[in-house]
Amino acid sequence: MAVNQKYWNPVLETLSREKIKQLQLKKFKRIFNWAYQHSKFHRQLYDIAGIKPEDIQSLDDARHVPRVDKSMMQGVQGKDPFPYGDALCVPLDEVSVFRQTSGTTGQPVYQPDTWQDWEWWMECWSYILWAQGYRPSDRVFIPFGYNIFVAFWAGHYAAEKIGCEVIPGGALDTRARILKIQELQATAMMGTPTYILGMGDTARLKMNLDLSEWPIDKITCAGECGASIPSTKRRMEKTWGAKVYDHAGATEIGAWSYECMDQPGGMHVNEALFLVEIEDLETGEIIDEPGQRGKMIITALDREAQPCIRFDSKDVIEWAAEPCSCGRTFRLIQGGVVGRVDEITKVKGVLLAPSAIEDVVRGVDGLGDEYEVIVDKAGYSDRIRLRIEILPDAQNRRRPIETELADQLRLKTNLGYEIEVCGFETLPRYEVKAKRFKDKRKKESG
Ligand SMILES: [Zn+2]
Repeated sequence: MAVNQKYWNPVLETLSREKIKQLQLKKFKRIFNWAYQHSKFHRQLYDIAGIKPEDIQSLDDARHVPRVDKSMMQGVQGKDPFPYGDALCVPLDEVSVFRQTSGTTGQPVYQPDTWQDWEWWMECWSYILWAQGYRPSDRVFIPFGYNIFVAFWAGHYAAEKIGCEVIPGGALDTRARILKIQELQATAMMGTPTYILGMGDTARLKMNLDLSEWPIDKITCAGECGASIPSTKRRMEKTWGAKVYDHAGATEIGAWSYECMDQPGGMHVNEALFLVEIEDLETGEIIDEPGQRGKMIITALDREAQPCIRFDSKDVIEWAAEPCSCGRTFRLIQGGVVGRVDEITKVKGVLLAPSAIEDVVRGVDGLGDEYEVIVDKAGYSDRIRLRIEILPDAQNRRRPIETELADQLRLKTNLGYEIEVCGFETLPRYEVKAKRFKDKRKKESG
């Protein structure tokens, strides 16, 4: 791999649209046939829908393949071949690693991978890291406790594959991690936006350290959409004096997207390895045009042990209108993953995405990084309470900060909020993924 090469895979990342579609069709046919031949779960699903491998002759035909969602996978598991059940497409002996989803929306889904699948994970991540400027000269610190979740195992191994030097910063506390980064002069880092900001707070407020002069010059975020939310990205970039890039992936899908160094305000879909479709939330039609949001239906075109074919991810995305200036022909999604279907909700009849609130809160100078949104009912009407913290050195500006916050919220989300100022460091802190948005109306109605 030539270090000055711009793309990880110069052929695939610059294919013409026509060639990309041909490749996706060829691979879709292959993975569909593979699942049909090797998994009872998939064969039954497709037989009931009356679709056989030979019926798929175009990407339009692929749109008739039934979708799979998390609840279906939960239903399959715990049976033979234990514990994966009959969605498994390989003999159990070929499974080389177990992972599971985090289970934030119910029972976790088990994810088996073969060694070949694991190499594929590393390849997916190599596209991401190379596009974000990782090179063999980098020393990469991963401030994360590796466990049964996939994060950040594949990022770690891809960095090694590229030729970087990797420091696994797992079993250390936040202060020790910060000191290790300083001691070893790390140049790159991976983490969730919540934790990257949390480290910044610890360094500044508790250790009196200014991270912005340190050699870390790039940070890869995953697990939350913060790196695609402009004001959260700016906060992280300012704190660390580094470029911050987004990436989205999931245990049962793979690492399907990445922001590039041009920071186009969105992420490339890795279309050589994944087929992404966007489905209209109301009509169920597939959206090919830019500018219209819908939920992502995704196929991992090369994953074999437990295939991911037309998986209903519940991520809300939209296609960008313009190609990226970096020269990659992989399509961009505008603004990254905008939210989850179950988070984007109507409040007082207005569609509200939690990421819009985050963009406002993180954009107001003087506010802490943490906040909490609670939607409930006050009598018959919806109410949104926003709990925030004001930084210790901005307490004397409390009134103007609150006014600016309320004005910006009304401007950007068309809604009014009850703002509650909490004592600094009294809101919950999260190590990995934050749960800042609580819709209490759902509990009451269901
Ligand atoms: Zn690009």
